[in-house]
Amino acid sequence: MRVAVLLDDRCQPKKCDDQCHAFCPPVRNGQECIIFHEKTKKPIISEQLCIGCGICVNKCPFDALVIHNLPEELKSDMIHRYGRNGFRLFRLPAPREEQVVGILGQNGMGKSTAINILSGALTPNMGDWHIEAAEWDEILKSLPKGELRDYLELVAGTGVRVALKPQYVDHIPKAFKGKVGELLTTVDERDALDEVTADLGIDHLLERNLPQLSGGELQRVAIAATLLKDADVYFFDEPSSYLDIFERMRIVKILQNLSKGKRVIVIEHDLAILDVLCDLVHIVYGTRAAFGIFTPARSTRKAINAYLDGFLVEENIRIRDKPISFVRGAVRKEAVGLPILEWGDLEKTLGDFKLTTGKGTIHETEVVGVVGPNATGKTTLAKIFAGELEMDAGWCTMEAKVSYKPQHITAEFPGTVREWMDAEIGNSWHVGEFQTRVVRPLEVDKLLELDASRLSGGELQAVSIVICLGRDADIYLLDEPSAHLDANARMEAAKAIRRTMESNEKSAMVIDHDIYFIDIVSDSLLVFEGEGGTAGSAIGPLSLRKGMNRFLKGVGVTFRRDHDSKRPRINKESSQKDREQKANDDYYYS
Ligand code: SF4
Ligand code: SF4
Repeated sequence: MRVAVLLDDRCQPKKCDDQCHAFCPPVRNGQECIIFHEKTKKPIISEQLCIGCGICVNKCPFDALVIHNLPEELKSDMIHRYGRNGFRLFRLPAPREEQVVGILGQNGMGKSTAINILSGALTPNMGDWHIEAAEWDEILKSLPKGELRDYLELVAGTGVRVALKPQYVDHIPKAFKGKVGELLTTVDERDALDEVTADLGIDHLLERNLPQLSGGELQRVAIAATLLKDADVYFFDEPSSYLDIFERMRIVKILQNLSKGKRVIVIEHDLAILDVLCDLVHIVYGTRAAFGIFTPARSTRKAINAYLDGFLVEENIRIRDKPISFVRGAVRKEAVGLPILEWGDLEKTLGDFKLTTGKGTIHETEVVGVVGPNATGKTTLAKIFAGELEMDAGWCTMEAKVSYKPQHITAEFPGTVREWMDAEIGNSWHVGEFQTRVVRPLEVDKLLELDASRLSGGELQAVSIVICLGRDADIYLLDEPSAHLDANARMEAAKAIRRTMESNEKSAMVIDHDIYFIDIVSDSLLVFEGEGGTAGSAIGPLSLRKGMNRFLKGVGVTFRRDHDSKRPRINKESSQKDREQKANDDYYYS
């Protein structure tokens, strides 16, 4: 089955020479394989006449076309298609009673379409794009007996009540003007405001205005608003963004409790959290913005291992060129190169908050991971090193040239990504090695002609990482580089940071809450402890193992290594392994 998709936001007929049409072999032979829309002047591709040569894909200067051959048997699995050359979705995940079902895959593969169908907001057209929606009888008849069909019978019949936690919580203050308490009272259908806000640790925020909240606080308010709805099925789109690991573990417990009486679906890119949270996982793969294919549910461990391996055995499909592999922590070198940055007894007071540090050193080619609870001063220390904040006391060698990617990033550049990168880092990103090491793995090469101001959160993060790593510096400070990136992009970003430091003999300090990211990227760890918003202290850098042990002991969570993939896995609380490791003071089994 041939799939020809036009990425509408990329196609710019006024700026090109219609190369797609000019070079298409069937067109040159007089066939109407590509014609142009009368009004938009954009190409319309005939999948019947297209021979799948891919010439138009290579010739289009704006990467606006995707041509793909898919197995014929998928044809009957098409659930929805947006227009003749639009995105198409194959198969759906199945919400199950009393279970947390996870969705794992890259952004842009149709998870929003899937959620809209499962919530009843969109009736699928089963691939017939001429019609708005198919008849439910026909839809149900086309599906095999099982969980999904049972569930969709409910959607088609009595309907299901749905609660959705949106992906981008930063948009909430724009949509609702007022206090946290007012928002939550409005949506409280279960009369459970006190209980839910106490469980989430946000009962002290009720009188605060929404724009005053931090990202982590907004995330918990959004989760509370979802839990307060009286629904049959609950969707949580990236519930861990902006949360530290303490809060992530708290959310795991809350969602697992919720699933005891309800169906719960979670889209999550922190693989350690997905692993411990879900009963089953559907992988979704495909080509961004062109098509997405949901696999049947697998056990969580099998799904994550298959995803990291990049090969889906049951489907006989390779979804990534190379596996993502984890290095056992003990193999990492502990002392590396000459000192690049040193500090001692730093102090900084900001309002009611005070940060203190001991003595620390970052060496050449060393990547220091930074972990700790929210609001204990990680960003404050990064800003001091970046020269954006003055310290009150202590000392710090300030000779090193610093490149800094802040936690909150915005794109106000009035031009394309290409122009933005040229303006920020000149020619450095055009160099072949940097392209192979950083630009292409982060798929920024596919964003070059897009408007910088219209990038999605994940795209903006990827471009910001490229800009940060593309500057000439001695030390690279990256604050939450995994935020908004999907699981695949996170692993690629972690590897890109490591490769850059190793080959350029530079250093990096990386603040993040994703344990897989930290595990892949770090040689050593700077551990923050203290009381969020009041006092924080930085300990280290310590060796990765020592640091993880100290950090995880504070969280009360133990990790083991998966024996196949070597990835870290959170032990179930009070399981035999958890108890044994805690007794041996071995929280991070490397
Ligand atoms: S697909 Fe590419 S080459 Fe064809 S009209 Fe659009 S921008 Fe031009
Ligand atoms: S892939 Fe299809 S549409 Fe594109 S140039 Fe080849 S035949 Fe024409």
